[in-house]
Amino acid sequence: MNKRQFKSESKRLLEMMINSIYTHREIFLRELISNASDAIDKMYYKALTDESLTFNKEDYFIKIHIDKENRILKISDTGIGMTKEELDDNLGVIAQSGSTIFKEENQLTDEIDIIGQFGVGFYSAFMVARNVKVISKAFGSQDSYKWESEGVEGYSIEPWEREAVGTDIILAIKDNTDDETYDEFLDEYRIRELVKKYSDFIRYPIKMNMTRHRLKEGSDNEYEDYTEEQIINSMVPIWKKNKNELTTEDYENFYNEKHYGFDKPIKHLHISAEGTVSYNSIMFIPEKAPFDFYTKEYEKGLELYSKGVLIMNKCPDLLPDYFSFVKGMADSEDLSLNISREILQHDRQLKLIANSIKAKIKSELENLIRDDREKYEKFYTSFGRQLKFGIYNDYGTSNDILQDLIMFYSSKEKKLVTLAEYVSRMPDEQKYIYYASGESNDRIDKMPQTELVADKGYEILYFTDDVDEFAIKMLRVYKDKEFKSVASGDLGIDFDEDDASSTDVEENIQLFNKMAEVLSDKVKEVRASKRLKHHPVCLANEGDISVEMEKILSSMPNNQNVKAEKILEINTNHEIFKSLKAVSDTDSDKFNLYTKLLYNQALLIDGLPIEDPVEFANDICRIMA
Ligand code: ADP
Repeated sequence: MNKRQFKSESKRLLEMMINSIYTHREIFLRELISNASDAIDKMYYKALTDESLTFNKEDYFIKIHIDKENRILKISDTGIGMTKEELDDNLGVIAQSGSTIFKEENQLTDEIDIIGQFGVGFYSAFMVARNVKVISKAFGSQDSYKWESEGVEGYSIEPWEREAVGTDIILAIKDNTDDETYDEFLDEYRIRELVKKYSDFIRYPIKMNMTRHRLKEGSDNEYEDYTEEQIINSMVPIWKKNKNELTTEDYENFYNEKHYGFDKPIKHLHISAEGTVSYNSIMFIPEKAPFDFYTKEYEKGLELYSKGVLIMNKCPDLLPDYFSFVKGMADSEDLSLNISREILQHDRQLKLIANSIKAKIKSELENLIRDDREKYEKFYTSFGRQLKFGIYNDYGTSNDILQDLIMFYSSKEKKLVTLAEYVSRMPDEQKYIYYASGESNDRIDKMPQTELVADKGYEILYFTDDVDEFAIKMLRVYKDKEFKSVASGDLGIDFDEDDASSTDVEENIQLFNKMAEVLSDKVKEVRASKRLKHHPVCLANEGDISVEMEKILSSMPNNQNVKAEKILEINTNHEIFKSLKAVSDTDSDKFNLYTKLLYNQALLIDGLPIEDPVEFANDICRIMA
């Protein structure tokens, strides 16, 4: 018989799993039952919607069988089964998400983290079993097969007799070693306990033969053992339970069981809505963004159930893009089972549910800002970008929902603040909400453009995400206050008339015009700066495109060569200005040189590339020589 090899990442994970000292081995049962339940979901749905099939509720169950003597634990289901190809494809490689994370070597360091964090699914069986057999017959197929493996050496598949459609997972439980005992996984009471702990709300009955005692017939002191089949789970889905009966741990178990994420969720929401639309929903706000969250591959959506039957794994219409990080499910009595993807999109009930869900998530996040700031900041670090994208992508139509959820780093508070907090601190005479864009908080701290606004005592919001300025352009105003970049040409700040820099502007105009001529294709204007205190020069800008936006746009693949309208501002109180003045009438060569140097300096400070670095280097040498 042909030995087949596991795909390489799977092999490494398997190795790790088999030799694992992982203390939560017991989760293998949760994983196998969850797979069985998923397989039954598929069969159940088929039987309900395919008229050529007869439907009988009793046909759908999971059965656990323990053979203590031979150290066998068997988990059987009446699910959809697997064909030969599916056995090969599904059980020969570890789940997609897992393998991709696995490629990132650094994640490998902490084995417990790996096993605990991403659902290892079927593979976890190898934590407790020295040999695993999967016997399966797929729906619609005449043949059945046995998949068998003892771990890293590979696996084999051969024809095998199985009468009914469904799957048996047969585990040969490891022998005890000096340090480890595995007997607990052959103990019916322990297994029942594990089912209660992790799989109680599985919708299908989980059956097991339990040993009971009874008086021997005709005797009044002799007992005998007999077995009785019991259903060991309560079968009430967690979302149908009363919130008061559930603990945070119950929700977290559900989160893990469903593989919604590999972290601990920051918050769960449990909705039982009745009225215009009735639905139950459990949703989670994860703590960490999945590795593919900010890529095109990420698929948003909630599991959608109709009257308790799963009809779609990821229904995207239930979540707006800006809340795409939310995980969970919704179950409604008002949706038809036999609904196609296309029709569903336009379904009135579904829209009502989606709207209600959107509002609930919004208010839950607002509560979090108010009640648990630290948690919210954790959340915001992972997903804040997505909220800001939402404002931008929806052209401002979602401002109402998002404007109170976004935060920026504040120059004054030295931490993330909301717009409401910023506005509440604004002095009466302050007209605008000021912001500064840059690569990092440190860089912005040193930006010359911030000097005047900071000097005035005004708070500045730091924009360090690509999307920040674009989002703010869509937001336009917050509580009637407009946003203003500290680099904008007109800061909207009133100056004292005795301010030296504002009085001597007139006499310098000619000089500025001459400079502007030298820089004719680069800047729109040269003028005296009102904002600079210590730095000699800086760039300001006019129009809709800021210098920071120019940087972002020019780094995009479809670079349209969009340029900001730049203004070179000169600090007329600075030493350098005197030198400039001195050469302006006497030495035009030097005047040109100084002008270009100052302009290039301003570019550098703003993090923009110098158009001709070689010329710039030569210019510096000329001065030094
Ligand atoms: P995951 O469940 O996260 O996809 P697993 O490694 O647990 O990853 O399972 C891989 C695949 O094998 C499943 O997606 C499913 O298609 C198939 N599978 C596992 N167990 C069963 C089962 N009992 N019946 C039918 N298919 C199964």
